[in-house]
Amino acid sequence: MKPAPFSFHRPSSISQCLELLQALADGDAKVLAGGQSLIPMMNFRMAQPEALIDLSGIADLEGIRLQDDNLIIGAMSRHNAIKADELVAIHAPLISLAYDHVAHFTIRNRGTLGGNLCHSDPASEMPAVMRVLGAQMEIASADGRRLVSADQFFFGPFATAVEPEELLVAIRIPISPRGRRYSFHEVSLRKGDFAMSAIAAAVDLDVEGRVMRARIGLCGVSDIALRAENAEEGLVGEYLNLAAATAAADAAVTSIEFNDTAAISASYRRDLTRALIIRALLGCTEERL
Ligand SMILES: Cc1cc2nc3c(=O)[nH]c(=O)nc-3n(C[C@H](O)[C@H](O)[C@H](O)COP(=O)(O)OP(=O)(O)OC[C@H]3O[C@@H](n4cnc5c(N)ncnc54)[C@H](O)[C@@H]3O)c2cc1C
Repeated sequence: MKPAPFSFHRPSSISQCLELLQALADGDAKVLAGGQSLIPMMNFRMAQPEALIDLSGIADLEGIRLQDDNLIIGAMSRHNAIKADELVAIHAPLISLAYDHVAHFTIRNRGTLGGNLCHSDPASEMPAVMRVLGAQMEIASADGRRLVSADQFFFGPFATAVEPEELLVAIRIPISPRGRRYSFHEVSLRKGDFAMSAIAAAVDLDVEGRVMRARIGLCGVSDIALRAENAEEGLVGEYLNLAAATAAADAAVTSIEFNDTAAISASYRRDLTRALIIRALLGCTEERL
């Protein structure tokens, strides 16, 4: 099937794009990033925007840089460029770990981090990673800019804090403190497919090996990327060993309503998630930085 008719716009600056979004706000306008999710949805007529605003001519939306204590990733930065980036590997290594599980090479060549986050697929890895890293989303409209924390950004499947006349321009990630440990574990039907369950973990240990701070993000389990806050709190003060990881995993899975799908039942997904949390937490005992 082919998409329904639409008008096509290709602004060359963020301000031009924001003017277009404001002018087209009454109709159904959508911005086009890498097109890896939007174009298939348009082909299946699951999305029928009247206007498409292509972001690929806006150079200011691309690039990765350090600013103060943050890593700034432009919304139009492509997955493969981020995966290969040295600043990301040094200052946000969890992103590099998780990218080993995101889609296939050709899709990562086109797909963007901004498009991925705005699409908010519940089985997508990056929303959970952004929640674990405490990222902030920089959102622009013709009226100005605002920052929204990753914990407040994802509303549900394909729904985020970005309003129709707004644009996600960049993702701000606090640079990783030295010594923080990270781990990412996933099970999918095939490598590069969306997650049946995936866990992103970050842990700070004190000199004696006790947990000072833990973050556990989950995707593929429910309608939205989650954080297992009860398990995070329960780990504080504990030695990070099998008993503590198992207790955290048990606490996490009791508070989640697991999706039941044709590919995998809710009870199997629950058991899988429990095992992956244990694996991810114990994976954090290997020093990363
Ligand atoms: C076969 C296949 C396998 C895949 N596997 C995975 C996987 O394992 N894990 C995974 O995470 N993803 C996977 N993907 C999705 C891929 O990562 C997409 O690139 C991503 O979800 C969407 O990014 P995009 O740049 O292509 O966005 P687009 O498809 O262009 O846009 C997606 C949505 O976001 C909106 N949008 C885009 N950019 C902005 C912005 N800057 N501001 C506001 N709104 C914006 C668009 O209007 C649209 O609604 C897969 C895709 C395919 C086709």
